[in-house]
Amino acid sequence: MKHNVVTAIVGILLVLCGFAFWETGYVEIILGLILVLYLISTGYGSYQIRANYFVKSIHRGKKKAVALTFDDGPDPENTPRILAILKEKGVKATFFVIGKKAEKYPELLHQMDREGHIIANHSYSHHYLIALFSTDRLRKDLKHCTEVILQTLGKSPAFFRPPFGVTNPRYRAVLKETKLQSIGWSLRSFDTRVKNKYQLIQNVISKLQKRDIILLHDNLSVTADALEDLIEHCRSKNIEIRPLPEIINKEPYETL
Ligand SMILES: [Zn+2]
Repeated sequence: MKHNVVTAIVGILLVLCGFAFWETGYVEIILGLILVLYLISTGYGSYQIRANYFVKSIHRGKKKAVALTFDDGPDPENTPRILAILKEKGVKATFFVIGKKAEKYPELLHQMDREGHIIANHSYSHHYLIALFSTDRLRKDLKHCTEVILQTLGKSPAFFRPPFGVTNPRYRAVLKETKLQSIGWSLRSFDTRVKNKYQLIQNVISKLQKRDIILLHDNLSVTADALEDLIEHCRSKNIEIRPLPEIINKEPYETL
């Protein structure tokens, strides 16, 4: 997307500047500077999923409500705690599950589904070098996660969230081919970095706006500790929590 436009502009700039400055002593410096700026913008685009640089992701809802999304589960300790709170509060969430964990804890996937939550793809391996995988390896990894969910629940997920929020041209190719819709976020809780639940709550409530897609992690105890207060805060501010598919107006599963 934007990457193609930037690449085309950089190509044109290189040619034009090459001609314009050919007979000066600055041509290498100018062409070098253009290339450095290109590399910086590419790096920024990879790590900022919200820039929609390589992949067009959905980061915000269309309706005036917020959606809770949980990544990196299912987790045998914290996912059940989170599911219990969601049930008690009558809130439906979306779980971006890691395929290899879903394979290990199928009962948790069944419970999520039974209790009205959405299950989505967050890759099979969640490998820390997944951004460096070849297109073929990435395709196999994403399809493997879809396969685990399909085998467990008989439903094929339509939503995908890239591990670490990192994207690149290989993701673009694979997501187009697999018809997975990339889902980002507009509000990051930083639950992976906070020291206690109060910091987490503060991170969310200080920025919370209607239409937010909130990023949380159901493998963390601090997230389970903070969840009830977060839900209560939304309610006290008259901010409705609705299921992700409803606020973005997209179907969560492929029709088989
Ligand atoms: Zn993750």
